[in-house]
Amino acid sequence: MITIRNDFHNRKVTLRTYVNARLTLRQIRRARRELCGSPDCTCGGVLGERGPQDVRIQDLGLDQYGEPFIQILDKDRPEIEHFDPKF
Ligand SMILES: [Zn+2]
Repeated sequence: MITIRNDFHNRKVTLRTYVNARLTLRQIRRARRELCGSPDCTCGGVLGERGPQDVRIQDLGLDQYGEPFIQILDKDRPEIEHFDPKF
């Protein structure tokens, strides 16, 4: 379980996922809804996160089906420079 926070709205969401996992569309939508929920608000990042997090949230853009590709990473690891979309 991984908790993502938004320190602007003072909200958090706990997702049933793990480090190195790709988030499902359902998890992405839930995180956005629960962390901010306002379509006009620009408080947070790609998941609506804001402020210090336990993990790093890597936005890999869209996959070959046009679905958002967001991966949860260890925050102490260096950035992934290349991610093979076929993997
Ligand atoms: Zn907001």
